[in-house]
Amino acid sequence: MRAPRLLIVGPQGSGKGTQGVLVAEAYGIPAISTGDVFRSAVAAGSELGRQVQAIISAGDLVPDELTSAVVRDRLSQADAAGGFLLDGYPRNLAQVRDLDAFLEARGGELDAVIELNVPRDESIARLSQRAQEQGRTDDTEEVIANRLAIYERETAPILDVYRDRGIVDDIDGTGSLDDITDRVIAALEARGLIRSAAA
Ligand code: ADP
Repeated sequence: MRAPRLLIVGPQGSGKGTQGVLVAEAYGIPAISTGDVFRSAVAAGSELGRQVQAIISAGDLVPDELTSAVVRDRLSQADAAGGFLLDGYPRNLAQVRDLDAFLEARGGELDAVIELNVPRDESIARLSQRAQEQGRTDDTEEVIANRLAIYERETAPILDVYRDRGIVDDIDGTGSLDDITDRVIAALEARGLIRSAAA
């Protein structure tokens, strides 16, 4: 069977980046994180990095046109032709429309959306630990509050759209990393998204 087209969604500190990589590995598909793409661009000092640096540091959203163009480029690369796991995109309704149009033009659509749920106090604890370990410029208290507010206002509504399509799997994001990955895979397999032997 062909590789799945997946999206992982969760608030800051839900562990979506970590789980995204683990689930993508299990299916042998690339994990595509827009946050990572933007951070790499900033680190490399590229034109894209220059455009997004201040926006990311403030925890605001990079303009949809730019973000959607970056994702279209990435999804057009050979390794994403079969399937992929998107982490952090789409993040608002306009981006959902952009992605739908892109996938439809290629004759496809998302197969499943993984919603990772973690109690607020645990995600805040994870975020403050990450702030100490990684020193991300957007992990200050003020910027985290802004990112969370944007999540609630702009990102949570995209889940309703995907829920109406019947493709959302609501996953408990607490416990060990392996347990969470197993839960995600069990939910995907229940949809018939089975890992190939090669993955
Ligand atoms: P988090 O989900 O913890 O906020 P990410 O690594 O996913 O972290 O994203 C970091 C930052 O990159 C965001 O705060 C935003 O500035 C930018 N970004 C990532 N994805 C998008 C997107 N789909 N649209 C607009 N901006 C984005």
